[in-house]
Amino acid sequence: MPQISDRVQTFTDSVIRRMTRISNKYGAINLSQGFPDFDPPKALTDALIEAAKKGPHQYSITFGASNFRQALAKKQGRAIGRDIDPETEIVVTCGGTEAMMCAMMTICNPGDKVMVFSPFYENYGADAILSGADPIYIPLVPPEYDFDISLVENGFKEGAKAIIVCNPSNPCGKVFSRDELTAIGELAVKYDAYVVTDEVYEHLVYAPYKHTYMSALPGMFDHTITCNSLSKTFSITGWRLGYIIGPAAFIESARKVHDFLTVGAAAPLQEAATAGLLLSDDYYESLNRLYTKKRDHMLEGLDRIGLKHNVPQGTYFIMIDIQEFLDKPQFAGWSDLEFCEWMIKEIGVAAVPGSSFFAEDINRYIRIHFARGEEVLDEALKRLEKLASLRAVPTSDKV
Ligand code: GLN
Repeated sequence: MPQISDRVQTFTDSVIRRMTRISNKYGAINLSQGFPDFDPPKALTDALIEAAKKGPHQYSITFGASNFRQALAKKQGRAIGRDIDPETEIVVTCGGTEAMMCAMMTICNPGDKVMVFSPFYENYGADAILSGADPIYIPLVPPEYDFDISLVENGFKEGAKAIIVCNPSNPCGKVFSRDELTAIGELAVKYDAYVVTDEVYEHLVYAPYKHTYMSALPGMFDHTITCNSLSKTFSITGWRLGYIIGPAAFIESARKVHDFLTVGAAAPLQEAATAGLLLSDDYYESLNRLYTKKRDHMLEGLDRIGLKHNVPQGTYFIMIDIQEFLDKPQFAGWSDLEFCEWMIKEIGVAAVPGSSFFAEDINRYIRIHFARGEEVLDEALKRLEKLASLRAVPTSDKV
């Protein structure tokens, strides 16, 4: 067989997306890949019907349709308290996934170092490899997912060109505090580096926590490459609409990378999503209330069953600690991936093995999400109760 690149053989397919395929195969409740099972706001679906009738059906401007960029600039400009120029400071991408890949390819030469907090959203691993970057992992230490800022400074001293900050953080639900972001930002300025943020869960932050935009901190706009998406905010993960906001000189180069990667995001979907960006703040508040209710419901259910879990400050993910089960003879020597596969088949609930997020050899967590209707969440909880019955099995392997 003709040879393919060594590079693509250094990473696996996405475990998150793989779990969805296994879940579908066995008809499990899919709490692995995070996406909602409910519809987008009517304003968007109505606008989509209009776009189907009236167009546009051909390419938009490669870096984003003008009205879509204007609406984005207005919404995000209000959020960060600074005018954003839709003509020079935004590039529209095919989802947050392309935004991050495009940002990394724009920043990195082969061999450049980039800091990544661990656990991290698995795409960043492949993004680093494909853009030629060498990741330096900074541990977010469970259960609080705190980090040691001196390790960030060491990373910059070693020459890291950028640090990726997923805030709110997938998979651990951490919301970086203003102080933490300020400390990271000050170091980025000191070492003349970029902070690349992934803020796709910006509206899923639970009281009393608040989302702080890195680019809004004093002096940080010129050092921040904000990657974002409409997927989670408007429940349109299949529309693949994302964007990068950053300083004009950076965006000029990122637009070239984006153009040759994908030409552009789907024109009719940009048109329809513009209707979402024009919604008032009531919409974001009601989205937040909806997810707060789901989170509390799921956490209560997990507590009832007695499963150990973190309490996410943001996102729609919960990390469950499965160590007590891995200690049982039935699962002796199992990885968290094997446990997740078993759960899909025997419990009927799909989760993502935590090891796909950690750079460290950590095998004791699984990630579930709660972007599901209440009845589905209740059924999932009912099924998860079966896990509790495993507790009766003695832990000793001399049984
Ligand atoms: N961000 C979601 C997750 O972590 C979905 C990822 C994806 O498949 N693009 O599950």
